Amino acid sequence: INNMTRTHRIAVIPGDGIGIETVAATLRVLEKLSALENFSLDLTHFDYGSARYKSTGSYTPETFPDELRPYDSILFGAVGDPDVPDHISLWKLLLPMRQIFQQYVNCRPVCLLPGVKACVNTAATPSDLDWVIVRENSEGEYSGQGGRSHIGTVGETATEVGIFTRFGCERLIRWAFELASGRPRKLLTLVTKSNAQRSGLVLWDECANRVAKDYPDVKWDKMLVDAMTVRMVRNPASLDVIVCTNLHGDILSDLAAALAGSIGIAPSANLVPDHSAPALFEPVHGSAFDIMGKGIANPIGTIWSAAMMLDYLGEKAAAARLERAFKKALADGATTADLGGELDTEGAAQAVIDRL
Ligand code: ATP
Ligand code: MG
Repeated sequence: INNMTRTHRIAVIPGDGIGIETVAATLRVLEKLSALENFSLDLTHFDYGSARYKSTGSYTPETFPDELRPYDSILFGAVGDPDVPDHISLWKLLLPMRQIFQQYVNCRPVCLLPGVKACVNTAATPSDLDWVIVRENSEGEYSGQGGRSHIGTVGETATEVGIFTRFGCERLIRWAFELASGRPRKLLTLVTKSNAQRSGLVLWDECANRVAKDYPDVKWDKMLVDAMTVRMVRNPASLDVIVCTNLHGDILSDLAAALAGSIGIAPSANLVPDHSAPALFEPVHGSAFDIMGKGIANPIGTIWSAAMMLDYLGEKAAAARLERAFKKALADGATTADLGGELDTEGAAQAVIDRL
């Protein structure tokens, strides 16, 4: 039996705030699931985050990419602290990691679920909103290139340079077309702003034109990001796979999570399609200091992210089993207060365990 047990090495970074609580709850679910599905997770905890920064002056050790590289995946909670500027928490860990490990696909499924009240105006059949947002995650507007001059003077100037490479755009768009061609409706919408941004986004559009030729079965269109916000709200059923640049994807995926009902359940995967470095799985929500320590955070966003991690690791049966269990828990109303339920974080995780 032991020889047949598959082992996956997981780096666990709970981070700050409710990330610590939702990751702990998720690990309890994974422990039970691994026993049922005959795989094992070799977990190593890392203390990266704002508490470490406040006590030692550094968010992570300098060598953090070397420390994390041996792992198959990273399960991440959230970082962010009212006492630490947001650009520090992002640039000390998450954004460099996406670039160093080339986690170039950020994948966020968004769908209507029984038991979750959606904000969107629909007849409430699941097909009314069933999207995967595919966001470029390694370059674009968050490339970190730019600078400031004449600081403190009236002539102060800052540049924020978006980097778009044909290599980077094509690989991401190809991944999205591949995904779309495997989905029932085979639709893809490319989000752009090439009317106003005339270099990077024009290249982005051209890459889509080129890649689309390889996927004649996928019906696709292009949409300016401003018009896209309207379409997401007014005509959600017309969308399936949504491909965005780094900045647009950041914004649209929060809108999508809100439309579908709750930021507390939204999952996110930062994928390395060739598995050459660890991928990272995290809930869409942040550290939410307003509810930290109360034990009321919804763990489903982290649990769903863990299901995506299992799928990426090849544990397809376990991933599907976990997804069925948390969807059943939501449908049964076995949820936390943000969804109108009465359970605390541990209770909501237990409700998932009971349904595995
Ligand atoms: P960030 O700065 O990363 O956006 P944040 O601390 O602002 O993080 P968000 O994740 O943006 O927090 O969440 C906004 C609010 O939504 C939180 O303050 C909290 O009240 C609520 N919220 C977020 N996640 C959850 C959750 N898992 N369960 C319950 N409520 C949540
Ligand atoms: Mg926020």
